[in-house]
Amino acid sequence: MDTVAILVAAGRGERMGASRPKAFLDLAGQPLLLRTASAFDAAPAVTGIVAVVPRGLEGDARSMLKAVGKLRAVAPGGARRQDSVLEGLRHVPDGFDGVVLIHDAARPFVDAELILSVARAADEHGAALPVLPLVDTIKRVRNGDVVGTLDREELGAAQTPQGFRFDVLGRAYEEAFRDGVTLTDEAMAVERLGGRVVAVAGSSANVKLTTPADWAWAERALLAQEGRA
Ligand code: C5P
Repeated sequence: MDTVAILVAAGRGERMGASRPKAFLDLAGQPLLLRTASAFDAAPAVTGIVAVVPRGLEGDARSMLKAVGKLRAVAPGGARRQDSVLEGLRHVPDGFDGVVLIHDAARPFVDAELILSVARAADEHGAALPVLPLVDTIKRVRNGDVVGTLDREELGAAQTPQGFRFDVLGRAYEEAFRDGVTLTDEAMAVERLGGRVVAVAGSSANVKLTTPADWAWAERALLAQEGRA
């Protein structure tokens, strides 16, 4: 099975409060995007990688990723996440009959096992993503008042990589753009058409680095893992 990973790294990362886009910030000695791309490069299930970065930084990204053997293209991102994904999809050849994996560059702890389980489920069922059970009780809050409690058994946190047979995501994206829908993840495009999306077991290690506190935690974890703490 041919599997192309599209790494979306074109967000400004404003919640990090840094002057450079998050993907280019140094995380325990390596830029975030390089760490994430290396995880996909090392995963046997992945055959190609496309990185989507802020417009104007394509050259910087190419030099950053020169050791990533499976890198096929670096594309400029768009205003919304879904625009960045679309830019990445343009670099997948027409008629490609494999799987595409869409992954947040902000999740560098993804591993080969999770990548394989998503790719396999996507190949078999059309669409799949890792879902993590919720540990907290989830409240509905309106203007500071708790107005209800949701059934935790029915809820889960969506992670990436989200995997799709290329034709399934292509069709769903076409319709979402035609209908003017804003997507918060890729699976939503398939769900809204009634398509099957399979949940595979998520990984608690596969966190998204969003805030300076997440970043500090990740640096400590990496330094300890690499014996440098
Ligand atoms: O903002 P959020 O946390 O949802 O971003 C998730 C991922 O999507 C990040 O890796 C970010 O770089 C990417 N993104 C993008 N293009 C955008 C917005 C977000 O590639 N316009």
